[in-house]
Amino acid sequence: MTAVALGLPRVRPAGPPGTLGRPDTDALIDRYGRVAHDLRVSVTEKCSLRCTYCMPAEGLPAIPRHDLLTPAEIGRLVGIGYRLGIRDVRFTGGEPLMRADLAEIVRHTRAAAPGVRISMTTNAIGLDKRVRELVEAGLDRVNVSLDTVDRAHFADLTRRDRLPQVLAGIQAALGAGLSPVKLNAVLMPETLAGATDLLAWAVEHGCRLRFIEQMPLDADQSWARDQLVSAQRLLDVLGARFGLTPVGREDPSAPAEEWAVDGGPATVGIIASVTRSFCGDCDRTRLTAEGTVRSCLFGNEEVDLRALLRTEAPDHAASDAAIVAAWQGAMWAKPFAHGLDRRAPDAGAVGGAADDPEAFARTERSMGAIGG
Ligand code: SAM
Ligand code: SF4
Repeated sequence: MTAVALGLPRVRPAGPPGTLGRPDTDALIDRYGRVAHDLRVSVTEKCSLRCTYCMPAEGLPAIPRHDLLTPAEIGRLVGIGYRLGIRDVRFTGGEPLMRADLAEIVRHTRAAAPGVRISMTTNAIGLDKRVRELVEAGLDRVNVSLDTVDRAHFADLTRRDRLPQVLAGIQAALGAGLSPVKLNAVLMPETLAGATDLLAWAVEHGCRLRFIEQMPLDADQSWARDQLVSAQRLLDVLGARFGLTPVGREDPSAPAEEWAVDGGPATVGIIASVTRSFCGDCDRTRLTAEGTVRSCLFGNEEVDLRALLRTEAPDHAASDAAIVAAWQGAMWAKPFAHGLDRRAPDAGAVGGAADDPEAFARTERSMGAIGG
C-alpha cells in the first residue's frame, strides 16, 4: 500500500465526514493516509452454495435485474477507478459464475482498464466449462474457496453435495494457466480437523492455500468470539504434520502471512482478520452488485454511484466528474478499523463492547451480499 502523508492530526472532524481536509489529489485517499489500489466488485447476490459462515439456507433476497450493474456500467466504473489509481480488480459476489454475462463483464473491464490485474473469487462450480472464455476476455487469476476435501464434510458446510464440481473447476483453472491458483479456506471449529488433509491436497496440486479467520459476517449472525479458531491454533495443528517456516507477507498490504511448507517451495498463508487485524494497511474499496461504493466490510455506509451513472448527463464527462467526487468522498469517510468509528449510535457491536477496539460493527449485510 502507498501511504500519503497528510500533515493532518488523525482526528475525525465533528459532524458528517464530507471531504473537509481532503488533499487535492485524484487518488482514492482516506483520512488516515491509506490509498485504495484494490477494488472488489460484487456482481451478484446469487450463489450455487449456501456456506454456513456466509449465506442463509434459503439464499439472499433476489436483487431485481434492473438494479444490477450491467457489464458496460461495471466497465465504466472500473475505468474511472483506474484513473483514480485502482490497479487490482477482483470480481466476487455471491458467486460470480452465476452471471451468464461474466465474460462480457471481464471484457468491458479489460477494455476500460487495460493495466489492471483482473481476478475473481469463486467457488469454481461450472468454471471448467467457462474458464477458456474468461481467460480470453482478460481474466488473470482466480481464488477458489475450498474449506475441505472431504465430500461429506463439504456437503455439511456448504449445504450442497458439490465437491466434485469444485475440484473439476480447480483443475480447469490450473489447466488454463491461471496460476498461481489460490485456495481460500475459512477457519472454523468444523474445518480444523481436516486442515492438514486440505493442505496436503493443495501442495500436491500446486495450489496456494490460505486460511481465513472467520469474521462476523454470516447471515445467520451466529459468530461468537469464543468459538473462533485462531491462526495460532491452526498453526499448532498444521505444525504437527508439516514443517512450517515463517516467510512473512508477499507485500506489506497483503493480508496473508505466509509459511513455507516442509522447506518450500509450497507455502501456506493465514489471514488472521480477527486476531491480528490488518485494517491499518487496508487499501481496498468495494462496489456492490447494485452499484454502491462501500469503503469497509464493516462500515455499513454506502454511496450510490449507479444513480449517477444512470442520470441522463449530456456527456459522460459531466457524470464522470460526479462519480469521481462521490467515490473520493466515500473513501475519505472510510472507517479506521472494523467500522466501529463509523457505526450508527444504535447499531450493535460484535465480539466485544462498543468501545473495544477489537470489536466489530454489526453489519446490515452479510459477506455474500457485500462481496467478500
Ligand atoms: N462465492 C465466491 C467464493 O466463495 O469464493 C465469492 C464470494 S465469497 C463471499 C468471498 C470470500 O468470502 C470467500 O473466500 C469466502 O470464503 C469468504 N467468506 C465468506 N464469509 C466469510 C466469513 N464470515 N468470514 C471470513 N470469510 C468469509
Ligand atoms: Fe456462496 Fe461464496 Fe458465500 Fe459460499 S462463501 S455461500 S460460495 S458466496
